[in-house]
Amino acid sequence: MYPEDKLAAIAYGDDVTLTDRDLASILNGYEEMDEALFMASSIVLDRTLGRDTYLHGIVQITNECQRNCYYCGLRRSNDSQPRFSLPFGEVMNSLTRGYNAGVRSFMLQSGELLDERTVSLVEHLLLEVEKKWGDKVAMALSIGEHPLSDLERFKSKGASRYLLRIESSDRELYMKLHPRDSIHRYSSRLDCLVNLHGSGWETGTGVLVGVPWQNDAHLAGDLRFMQRLDVDVCNMNPYAVHDGTPFAKERRLIPPAEERLLKYLRMIGLMRILMPDINIPISARLLSVHHSGPMRALKAGANAYMANLTPAKYRRNYDLYGGKPAETNSIEVVVNDAIRLCENVGRPVKLLDPGVSRHYRKRMEEKE
Ligand code: SAH
Ligand code: SF4
Repeated sequence: MYPEDKLAAIAYGDDVTLTDRDLASILNGYEEMDEALFMASSIVLDRTLGRDTYLHGIVQITNECQRNCYYCGLRRSNDSQPRFSLPFGEVMNSLTRGYNAGVRSFMLQSGELLDERTVSLVEHLLLEVEKKWGDKVAMALSIGEHPLSDLERFKSKGASRYLLRIESSDRELYMKLHPRDSIHRYSSRLDCLVNLHGSGWETGTGVLVGVPWQNDAHLAGDLRFMQRLDVDVCNMNPYAVHDGTPFAKERRLIPPAEERLLKYLRMIGLMRILMPDINIPISARLLSVHHSGPMRALKAGANAYMANLTPAKYRRNYDLYGGKPAETNSIEVVVNDAIRLCENVGRPVKLLDPGVSRHYRKRMEEKE
């Protein structure tokens, strides 16, 4: 069977397996193949999880980072970035305004800082959230590779979800994206992910799509990696070139922006077909990189939207990707824009819902 025919059969509801070769030809793609893919992936999403989109509110608590990832604007050697750390009260204020606007799922994100001050700030935030809202909200963290002892502290204070992208599941490509030293080891990142998954966290990972040296075989391998790890959430990004990073000098190795976006959309479509009940969030940030990006991602199989609730005055300095416009919208406007955007593509936001991954719920039920 040709891959297009398999995609049509999947849309129809047949139980068809995609081989590694199928994945590679679908990723390589062309117009009719893309149509067949996105038709199949959106039908699989409707059939499995329905039409609702979960809304996750993200607060960036600090842009300081000890790592030096070659692609990221927050890397410690980028001294063109003013550094900030949000005071406790400002984080709580953002979360409260998000809560009042109907958000029930939050993520605290930051560069990687493993010192006791940061760990205890996160702990105190989690405790305060637990005291205020209990299990009405889900708290996610995306704060880097913490040791198991820190993860246990966070979990006991009420965090339940963690996002740690593997960035690339291919060890060699991973090593080209990061300096070769003891804090950028592929094996440590993988260990951290396996620990999270094995210790009851709702586990999210993902990859960058469109980085230098990456080919379709790497991306097909990434899809298989997510299946093998049995992730609950797959959170990917099209790579965006940031001028303050070493990769800005590798432009000849970087595919054009539209190609990076299309590859990313194909990854979303395939991920949805391979793992129908996981959450696939997209970042509102996509909007400023590619105007149609979030709409196309929701049509390709994404089912969650990450809105940025960081106070406006700090937002422009949390610049992972470069060229970030100074967003001045208030939290209420950010939430309303997200609601309108999802509504417009026929995937309305489900407010007042912590947005737990169906895959995770099942995994926990089976464990009991
Ligand atoms: N410091 C933590 C979490 C915050 S960074 C960590 O690295 O795990 C969150 C994500 O931003 C990273 O996982 C990376 O995938 C993404 N990112 C960094 N630079 C990027 C770029 N130039 N384009 C797209 N995504 C990028
Ligand atoms: Fe730091 Fe995360 Fe950026 Fe790497 S990707 S430099 S760890 S913020």
